[in-house]
Amino acid sequence: MIPVSYSEREASENHVSSCPFCQIVAGRARAEIIYEGISSLAFLDINPINFGHALVVSKDHYSDFNELPDDVLSDIVSSLRVVSRAIIESVHPAGFNIFNNNGPAAGQSVFHFHFHVAPRYDGDGLKIRPQLKVYESPEQMAEYASIIRGKIEVNDKSGERK
Ligand SMILES: [Zn+2]
Repeated sequence: MIPVSYSEREASENHVSSCPFCQIVAGRARAEIIYEGISSLAFLDINPINFGHALVVSKDHYSDFNELPDDVLSDIVSSLRVVSRAIIESVHPAGFNIFNNNGPAAGQSVFHFHFHVAPRYDGDGLKIRPQLKVYESPEQMAEYASIIRGKIEVNDKSGERK
């Protein structure tokens, strides 16, 4: 166990008391747990898009995708595969979505990182109707690519294209 400072321990305890998913991970709130990974836990969503809709969460509290350490993300993705395969083989949906919401504008309502695994059926009532934009010109699109690539080069020194 890595020793943590008092303030880190206190912050972690605050998450456990105020965060519904930390409560589930700590065993202090009820959930239909279906799978446990090394640093991830899967349980049923209490308000499913369709029955069998599951959430795969990090055991530790991270607010969104970009906060996840690589090893935790890797374990979560492994658990996602286990859980999605089990849902397909048991519930037999026509299809399934895996998705993650980051920030209120994107529909995040619990600020503890989680992926959704949602069974889907034709005509099941879930509608995502994006108003797709069109770049004004190839130059405008190139400008967006350029500023994003610029941050990749800054943030990820191993991210050079081979
Ligand atoms: Zn939490």
